[in-house]
Amino acid sequence: MTAPRPIFSDNPIDRASHLRMDDAWLADSLIDPQTRYVPFRNLNALIVPSERPDAPMDIGWQAPVNVAEFVGDGAICVFLGLMDGAPRYAVDVSSLDDKHEASELARAGRFMEVRRVSTRLGFGIPAILAQGRSMIDWHKRHQFCSTCGTPSKSSQGGYLRLCTNDACGAQHFPRTDPVVIMLATRSDQCLLGRQPGFPPNMFSALAGFMEPGETIADAVRREVMEEAGIKVGAVHYRDTQPWPFPSSLMIGCRADAESEEITIDGQELEEARWFGRDEIIASLENPAINLEDQKWQGLTVPPPMAIAHHLIRDWAFDND
Ligand SMILES: [Zn+2]
Repeated sequence: MTAPRPIFSDNPIDRASHLRMDDAWLADSLIDPQTRYVPFRNLNALIVPSERPDAPMDIGWQAPVNVAEFVGDGAICVFLGLMDGAPRYAVDVSSLDDKHEASELARAGRFMEVRRVSTRLGFGIPAILAQGRSMIDWHKRHQFCSTCGTPSKSSQGGYLRLCTNDACGAQHFPRTDPVVIMLATRSDQCLLGRQPGFPPNMFSALAGFMEPGETIADAVRREVMEEAGIKVGAVHYRDTQPWPFPSSLMIGCRADAESEEITIDGQELEEARWFGRDEIIASLENPAINLEDQKWQGLTVPPPMAIAHHLIRDWAFDND
C-alpha cells in the first residue's frame, strides 16, 4: 500500500543559491515582469480557493506591480529560487491594512493558515509555503543583531542578516531546528504515546528536540528513555519532513527497543503503550482515520500529512 509523501516535502523550486550573491541580478529580478511573489500576511499565505471542493488550490502568485509597495528598503522579501524558469519570491505584506481590502492583492485570494490549507494544495506546493513561511518568520524575529543589539539588514536574497554596526559586522543565518521522531519496535509490536492534547484514542510516535552536541541516534535513545523508560539499541534513519512552525525539521527514525516495561515521564506523555501490528493495520485501513468520524472507537494514528503516519505505515506493511 502506498500513501502520499509527508506534506511539505518535494519542493519544486530550484533554490539557485548562486544567484543570491548577484546583487545586480537580484535587483533586476525584483521588477522583472516574469517574476512571481507569494505574499504572506501575518504568516498566512495568499491562496486562490478552488471552485470545486475536491480540486486542489494554488498559491495566489502575484506580479511585481501588485506588491511593489511591499518590496523596498527594510522590506521582508526572500528569493525562493526559480520555478518554470522565472524568479520566485516570498514577501511579507503584513502592513496590508483594512483600507487595502479592496486592492488587487486582497481580491486575488484569501490569506490562509499554512498548516490548515496544506492538505488542499497540489503536489509540492506546501513545500514552497514551508520555505517562505519559515524564512519570513525568521526575518520578523531577527531584526536586531544578537551579538551587539544593533539593527541588522537582509542580504543575499534574504539568506543572511548583517549587523549594521561596522565595529561588529556579525553575520546571522536562518536556522533549522532538528526534531527526532521515532517508532520504537520490538518483535511484532511498536511503541506509541499520547500527549494530553490529543483527540480521543489517538496515539503517535514519540518525538523531541535534539540538543547541541548530540547525534541523531543519541537523541532518539535519550527521548525514548525519558518519555517511556524504554532502552533503545540500533537506530535507523527513515525520512525527514520540514515542519515550518516555525522552523523545525522532523527526522524520522526506526528504533530497535531492547526493553519492554514502560515507565512514562508523566510530563510530555499521559500514556504510552505497545501496539500489535494487527491493531495498527486495522487503524490504518479504517476509513474514519480523518478523525471526524466519531463512530470509530479503536486506535487512531496521525493522518498522512504527518511523517509519524509514514513511520507507522511503513513498519505495519513492511514497506522497508
Ligand atoms: Zn552586531
